[in-house]
Amino acid sequence: GEIVHHQKRKVARLFLRLGARKGVVLRAPVVSRCRGGVGMFRGQVNPVTGRQEWVAEERDVESEDGDLSCELARSQYGDMLHDTARNQLYCQAIEKAVSDMKAKGRAAHVLDIGTGTGLLSMMAARAGAARVTAVEVMRPMVRIAREVISANGYSDTIRVVGKRSTDMTENDMEGGRANILVTEVFDTELIGEGALITYSHALQNLMEPDCIVIPDSVTVNVQLVRSEFLWRHHKLIPEALPGSVTVPADWRKCPGAPSLWDLHAEQLQIPQQMNTLSDPTHIAKFKLSDPGLSSDRSVQEVVVPVSQGGTCHGVLMWWTADMSEAELSMSPWDYTQWRDHWLQAVQLLPEPLNVKKGDQLSVNYAMMTTPLWFH
Ligand code: SAH
Repeated sequence: GEIVHHQKRKVARLFLRLGARKGVVLRAPVVSRCRGGVGMFRGQVNPVTGRQEWVAEERDVESEDGDLSCELARSQYGDMLHDTARNQLYCQAIEKAVSDMKAKGRAAHVLDIGTGTGLLSMMAARAGAARVTAVEVMRPMVRIAREVISANGYSDTIRVVGKRSTDMTENDMEGGRANILVTEVFDTELIGEGALITYSHALQNLMEPDCIVIPDSVTVNVQLVRSEFLWRHHKLIPEALPGSVTVPADWRKCPGAPSLWDLHAEQLQIPQQMNTLSDPTHIAKFKLSDPGLSSDRSVQEVVVPVSQGGTCHGVLMWWTADMSEAELSMSPWDYTQWRDHWLQAVQLLPEPLNVKKGDQLSVNYAMMTTPLWFH
């Protein structure tokens, strides 16, 4: 797709050209002004637990000087629409799911959670779904989705529900429970947008038991890394500071907030800025079609063999998702698509660890409800 921004007297208009695989170009004026109270989520670190949390912020845009359209124009929705690899894999998986459902003699009813601009819902409608329920929690996006869907002539098939999916019940599902679930509610750290809760709630309350889920499973991969470069951004290193600065020992040992640091790992210079000390290792696979998934809080341990000795500063992580016949991968090593809305993440260790080739490093990870956390 291609997005063209026009700015006119503080009113941004986004024109989306939703690039269609079959050569059809869908075009629609999208945003005008966004007015009224707006629900937004803001990530913040809880100083008591040190954990990243999502806080709902209600903003009254009427009383603000300006509007939200500029924020939306700069937001990640545009970057998502430019992510051709992502869009094509979703499109193929949606087309296959709709045709598999039809082959069973059943009409396809798709639930698209987090519809954003309406892209995945329109893919489903174009693929021949009889009914699509598109859910979106962010109010300006609900309006955008309705405008885009209407401009593309899909309003009869797609119904946009302006709610958080976890506040929905079966009664909100016109035509009953859906039989295909499609969502793209992942962040760089996979579950930071609350994907596990979203999936398990939908499977228990909004979907038929034998539904098709896109993506069906996601895998978290890790790799041990040495990076003085990243370490210098993480710690107060007195030797590196000018003058006679002293740093108390407990400050030097302070691990900081246990959060993952999202970055473009492929843009670091190898080996000057980062070296890998192990092969990529699958650390966890989440079956998203399992309704009980979000209740597992246990700490898991995976052994990662060290392939090269050195100082291990941290763990690099990225995820991959199974999309019917192919994999959607955030790996920095098979980089085929520039994107900014999904990166890789590094968690730096409390202290650097010297490792030798052949060592077996035990990496523990805890899956809280939202953040992943490695030890
Ligand atoms: N589906 C679109 C947009 C993906 S961005 C696309 O693929 O291009 C994810 C969107 O999901 C955001 O707009 C966010 O507001 C919304 N979202 C996340 N969790 C949600 C939930 N549980 N219910 C409703 N909307 C949700």
